[in-house]
Amino acid sequence: MSRVQQVAVLGSTGSIGTSTLDVLQHLTHGFQVSLLSCHQNIANFESQCVAYRPRTAIVTGPDSEEVQAWLAGRSAQQDRLLGMDHLVAAVQSEEIDIVVAAIVGIAGLESSLAAANAGKRLALANKESLVVAGELLLKAVQQSGAELLPIDSEHSAIFQAMQSGSHRREVERIILTASGGPLRNWPIDKLETATVEDALNHPTWSMGRKITVDSATMMNKALEVIEARWLFDISPDQIQVVIHPQSMIHSMVEFCDGSVVAQLSPPDMRLPIQYALTYPARTHSPAVRMDWKQTQNLDWYAVDPERYPALELGFEVARRGGTCGAVLNAANEAAVSLFLLHQIRLTEIPILCRSVLHHHDYSPSPSLDDLFRLDRWAREEAMRWKKIPC
Ligand code: NAD
Ligand code: MG
Repeated sequence: MSRVQQVAVLGSTGSIGTSTLDVLQHLTHGFQVSLLSCHQNIANFESQCVAYRPRTAIVTGPDSEEVQAWLAGRSAQQDRLLGMDHLVAAVQSEEIDIVVAAIVGIAGLESSLAAANAGKRLALANKESLVVAGELLLKAVQQSGAELLPIDSEHSAIFQAMQSGSHRREVERIILTASGGPLRNWPIDKLETATVEDALNHPTWSMGRKITVDSATMMNKALEVIEARWLFDISPDQIQVVIHPQSMIHSMVEFCDGSVVAQLSPPDMRLPIQYALTYPARTHSPAVRMDWKQTQNLDWYAVDPERYPALELGFEVARRGGTCGAVLNAANEAAVSLFLLHQIRLTEIPILCRSVLHHHDYSPSPSLDDLFRLDRWAREEAMRWKKIPC
């Protein structure tokens, strides 16, 4: 990369967004924050607008007096805008080189697609974009010559490990590691009593609420199986999941000669975020280092399907493709919201998701409009499941 890279951070107030800004603060040469977006956390966003001085700042959430007051702070140096349409247009602008997609949920899909269509480097944290519309997103990347680089730690690990082979056909399988979440050691018959607080108490990672609940159910790993299927163009039969409670091995690639290449580092998202920005170069990083003077055990365990029924849904969706990803994702987003509102139990999330998935009108090659229509349908079904009006 020769000229200074102009970076857009979408969802800059979130967990990945703030870690990205921390990385960019340390990468003093070669990168500049050009665009920031947030949904609702205006006070925090205002501080970011002042500290990072992006050329453009966009709020995508609902209008309010607070938003109007923030908009009134626009200046000749900083454009301030309101609305997702502005964000989708802004990521395609000539000025932007790298788009860090760190919005949570399907709300991130349109901007990910826009960045892919415009030929940007898309540093993708928003796994839901691939889960819902993997085929369309990859087509956009291929047609425009965009670069798609994973931020998800497992997929960054696989991407790094893959580089030790000389050809894709040498890869026998990929092994995704999962922490097992905060309820890994609970008796199975007690899982239905888990509270929101229990589910949000993740042992190794500090993340946004939705992905933390997804970790407790292992739906996060289910979504990551689908993500890996698209990112690495690999058959779901070549993907395996193991529980690794220490979250030090971020994932592994097993080659045809039996050699297994792993990527290790303490759980700190700043490392995969930075690699997606600087690839193929590596530079000094603020991420926490391994302490080789401390004794450290690295354990792994097989996944018990009775404890984590959501995982099988990920493999099923990865095999069937088509409309399945959009339906599973929407049902899960709705179910997680219901759980966070204390309307359903944690253990009902995979049951609800399976029920909605198995009742949808499947199509093998949907358009983007079909996917958005099914997204709405699946959310309504999820609400109906609990007889709650949408
Ligand atoms: P978060 O909830 O902490 O932050 C989400 C960001 O998206 C916020 O800036 C918020 O303002 C914005 N946002 C929320 N709803 C929006 C909407 N409707 N429209 C536009 N913007 C909206 O989430 P997070 O944990 O940072 O996760 C972000 C993405 O990264 C998710 O897809 C998640 O799966 C993925 N991811 C996160 C981690 C992690 O460590 N947090 C790791 C791997 C992948
Ligand atoms: Mg992950």
